[in-house]
Amino acid sequence: MLFKEFGFDNRIMKSIAHMGFEEATEIQARAMPEAMVGRDLLASSKTGSGKTLAYLLPALHRVYKTRALSKRDPRVVVLVPTRELAKQVYSQLRLLLAGTSFSSILIQGGENFNDQHKSLQKDPHFVVATPGRLADHIKHRHVFLEGLELLILDEADRMLDLGFADAMRAINAAANHRLRQTLFFSATLDNTDVNTIAAELLKEPSRVAIGQGY
Ligand code: ADP
Ligand code: MG
Repeated sequence: MLFKEFGFDNRIMKSIAHMGFEEATEIQARAMPEAMVGRDLLASSKTGSGKTLAYLLPALHRVYKTRALSKRDPRVVVLVPTRELAKQVYSQLRLLLAGTSFSSILIQGGENFNDQHKSLQKDPHFVVATPGRLADHIKHRHVFLEGLELLILDEADRMLDLGFADAMRAINAAANHRLRQTLFFSATLDNTDVNTIAAELLKEPSRVAIGQGY
């Protein structure tokens, strides 16, 4: 399926053209239409299959097409397990947001807490974060998620392996439940802990599993 067939906003099509991509990967082709109609999503596919754009493009489409619920709160939060992945996802997001009026920040463990607090006071639209540190900022009331429209969990299985279950639950509890959409990506869906937390976070999700095991 070609990117031009998804009905993305023109500004997104420009970014995709800039990246030089024409055809969606399989996970993108299956996941993006579900995400774009506002459904919760439980998805898995192997490393290198293009999951980052599978959630960032629908996220961007959504913020273009809808009005913010709040001026203060982030509209999109992406949770990732590690600092390395946070940096990768954040740099991909920065490319997509270049030339737009949308702002973004990176909140990861091991960096200065007060500097992050100051960045959060600028009311960024997108937050890419590791769960422990974002949960700390929520606890300190540095950020509120009542206006959150989209919660994305990337490599949720690894977040659980790293002991982030409680932080993930705290972030979920702070987030708007009525209007929020959740996109949940995991290397495997064949795991009790993954399914337990997915059942807590997701509402009637579409299930998209590409490749082995499903
Ligand atoms: P995953 O998260 O599934 O491991 P990534 O999102 O990191 O995969 O993508 C892996 C690589 O594939 C990246 O370099 C990305 O830019 C590239 N990529 C993503 N989507 C496409 C596409 N539709 N066509 C070609 N390359 C793509
Ligand atoms: Mg990935």
